[in-house]
Amino acid sequence: MRHAVFRLFSHEPLHDPTAEPNPEVRREIKTTTCYMCACRCGIRVHLKGGELRYIDGNPNHPINKGVICAKGAAGIMKQVSPARLTRPLLRKPGSERGAGEFEEISWQRAFEILATRLAKIRASDPRKFALFTGRDQMQALTSLFARQFGTPNYAAHGGFCSVNMAAGMIYTIGGSFWEFGGPDLERARLFVMIGTAEDHHSNPLKIAIGNFKRRGGRFISINPVRTGYSAIADEWIPIRPGTDGALFMALLHELIASDLVDHAFLKRYTNAPQLVVLDEGEREGLFAHDPDPAKGPPGDGRHPHNKLIYDRASRSIKAAYPQGIAAGSDPALEGQYALADGTRVAPSFQLLRDRVAPCTPEWAAAITGIGADRIRRLARELGETALRQAFELPIAWTDAWGTRHETTQARPVAFHAMRGLAAHSNGFQTVRALAVLMSVLGTIDAPGGFRHKAPYPRHIVPNFRAFNSPDMIQPNTPLNAAPLGFPASPDELAIEADGRPMRIDHAFSWQHPLSAHGLMHTVITNATRGDPYRLDTLMIFMSNMAWNSTMNTVAVREMLNRRNADGEHEIPFLVVCDAFRSETVAFADLVLPDTTYLERHDVMSMLDRPISEFDGPADSVRVPVVAPLGECRPFQDVLVELASRLKLPAFTTAEGTRKFKDYPDFVVNYEPQPGIGFLMGWRGKDGSEHLRGAPNPRQWEMYANHDCVFHLKLPETMHYMRNWNREYLDFAKDKGWRQKNDVVQLALYSDTLQTFRLAAQGKTRGRQPPEHLRERIATYFDPLPFWYPPLEDAATDPAAYPLAAITQRPMAMYHAWDSQNAWLRQIHSHNYLHVNPKTAAAAEIADGAWCWVESRWGRVRCMLRCSEAVEPGTVWTWNAIGKADGAWQLAPGADEAKKGFLLNHLITDELPSAGGPISNSDPVTGQAGWYDVRVRIRPAGPDEAAETSPRFAAAAR
Ligand code: SF4
Repeated sequence: MRHAVFRLFSHEPLHDPTAEPNPEVRREIKTTTCYMCACRCGIRVHLKGGELRYIDGNPNHPINKGVICAKGAAGIMKQVSPARLTRPLLRKPGSERGAGEFEEISWQRAFEILATRLAKIRASDPRKFALFTGRDQMQALTSLFARQFGTPNYAAHGGFCSVNMAAGMIYTIGGSFWEFGGPDLERARLFVMIGTAEDHHSNPLKIAIGNFKRRGGRFISINPVRTGYSAIADEWIPIRPGTDGALFMALLHELIASDLVDHAFLKRYTNAPQLVVLDEGEREGLFAHDPDPAKGPPGDGRHPHNKLIYDRASRSIKAAYPQGIAAGSDPALEGQYALADGTRVAPSFQLLRDRVAPCTPEWAAAITGIGADRIRRLARELGETALRQAFELPIAWTDAWGTRHETTQARPVAFHAMRGLAAHSNGFQTVRALAVLMSVLGTIDAPGGFRHKAPYPRHIVPNFRAFNSPDMIQPNTPLNAAPLGFPASPDELAIEADGRPMRIDHAFSWQHPLSAHGLMHTVITNATRGDPYRLDTLMIFMSNMAWNSTMNTVAVREMLNRRNADGEHEIPFLVVCDAFRSETVAFADLVLPDTTYLERHDVMSMLDRPISEFDGPADSVRVPVVAPLGECRPFQDVLVELASRLKLPAFTTAEGTRKFKDYPDFVVNYEPQPGIGFLMGWRGKDGSEHLRGAPNPRQWEMYANHDCVFHLKLPETMHYMRNWNREYLDFAKDKGWRQKNDVVQLALYSDTLQTFRLAAQGKTRGRQPPEHLRERIATYFDPLPFWYPPLEDAATDPAAYPLAAITQRPMAMYHAWDSQNAWLRQIHSHNYLHVNPKTAAAAEIADGAWCWVESRWGRVRCMLRCSEAVEPGTVWTWNAIGKADGAWQLAPGADEAKKGFLLNHLITDELPSAGGPISNSDPVTGQAGWYDVRVRIRPAGPDEAAETSPRFAAAAR
């Protein structure tokens, strides 16, 4: 390849297509998995004489079936990028962080520095080591490393990306969109896509939408911006950012008022008929239960079954299971009742009905900008398609209570949603509202609706508890629980006895109790401030935390360089592992050069984020197709090496020697439970077993021989209704995907949220939030979904900043990764602010002119483009196209740094609060509220430079 580049400048023809192939030159096709974005398509890499020639899609792969996108095809240019890091680097003594001045060192020295430092931390206070990673696909390994090290300070990028989508849906239906589930477009008749750009599940969704439209399906896109998938929608409904929750509440209002809900589904498969205590006290708002100890503990997130219903047939209170669902029972969804002891109760559906009663289409129209009539018509279309165009598939299945159903009921309305809903500080309750909307239509794991992918559905609440006590953190000792999990009550928070956070990012604290993915975006601010304590070493892998993976980028860059009174950095040691010279690399004390996806082994594991399909589990791998460049080393190998040097128990034999040679060896032989490993295909000594089985020394080879993917198609009887499907629930438990085989009733009403609210109201005796957070918890931990304005609205004058500003990823680039890619740079080398022509005209800014975008927190100069494909109250741009001077090895004056801009400069990472600054995040999950920023625009002055602002001193190249 390098040779070919030099020949570009000679007169010699590069390629003669008529020439006979030289039989001496070896031609090969190797299969592996793409990583130019996170969709994990199968690819074929074509090599000639060992050199990369081109990449195309693998037709045998279940994800993309041969389709490849521009990014995937351009992976070849990643190998020859001038921005590659090829040797470990140590910051030059006396140089500033950010200047990017390094000396090359050997791996041996790098490991010595790291192992010595980490061993000292582990032996004294393991919390002082923090590991935060970006959009990697190896969290099963990185979280194991952190847990074994004994630090709770670990997370990947989810808190910045879409944890609201994951948590909002998992706490409601036990699964979520994308890796965990998605729309069944094969059988849907109506498809509603909300808040989705063209990045998540890219090729598979394009294929599915194309087929869906060819079959005559109707596609409605609800989004402030009409790009990507939305461009081919039959109808675009523009909506103001951060108001989707109000739309869902109004749709629920209409559906319930017009009785377009699936009564049978609600009664049997959700907690809609279960009785909620109405009387004041410590059980207020929780589900009523049978006090007989033989019936088990009171129903709560972890013990969901001891609950009651009111049976209209016998006019009596009954146990929800199995009496309430027995033949002849008719659980009430509405009304108010009294228990034998006089306690007032009501079915949770009645409370939902009361909640949505004032949320009329007129109310929502004023918030969303969508006309009330259009909301009414949409509700009718949803309800009538789900209920009146319903059909049955001749697929028999048996439910968890032993009832055999001869057919499977289809509900042909499918939704898909993503970061447009999630990246707001009201996103959790918005996503809850969507999940409840999908549930009342009966679409969960039904043909034509939303379908899970193994290992989902999870229990509600999933049986993954994070660590929750300071006693769990001990020198030289692994944590006895994972650093991340799903709290079911205040008892499961990671807080000190006085209520202060135990984690550096404040995850699982009273500030953000259900932060299932951590809060990567708070780490640098908190660590600099020493809140709740100081770190020693921050290790960042594949995350551009000094640029686009942070809010308030200018301040964060300053913090990374801030020193204390003794002249020491507030964050003493910063390790960055990346394949490319990102903006963050320039701030590192130690740089570890990672490999590209074509140079290493990787797994898309069932223990992490597999590539399962609706019809069964699937996992996949990457295998090296070319040798690593220079001295690049896979980060996975680095972790296995460090873990072995530190003698972390899972990586060390009983005799104290190293257990695994390298990462591939670890993947084959590591078993978190007997018979279960990182990969589920070709297990057993000879590779004859799947899902469970002894380690197979030839497992990598067998994946490589099978297109790098293992896909087990389950029998049709296990394809649907998996929250309640006995055969599937037993199978999932047997294969280690679930700890229990009990049903996953949909949580329209969340008693889990109510336990936090009761604590905040001082009605329970257990853990209590600090005084300044009581009202916040009591407000946002509402057991029923509701809409509230994004938190930033209260800190911003809407008259002064009348516009919402959002970003999305372009189809041709993923995060910050591709500005070093010569092919993809030809598609985007800079970005514009896209503005509705009416809005631009009102601000007197011409199409193509330079303008200022200003928020309360900062300002950016950029070029404006008029576009009808954005609603007038919103401006938007592509994310992470703008780059810092000198980063990514871009030439001086490159478009990316001169004309491209980063909207993050306008976003604050903290908001004022009674107890001091608090993260600008969702108060439930800690999801970064980076789509909440309010802005105004004005023309740049005629004397101002035609280039972006702010710009930064270039790092050394
Ligand atoms: S959609 Fe993503 S994973 Fe698939 S080919 Fe494109 S870049 Fe690769």
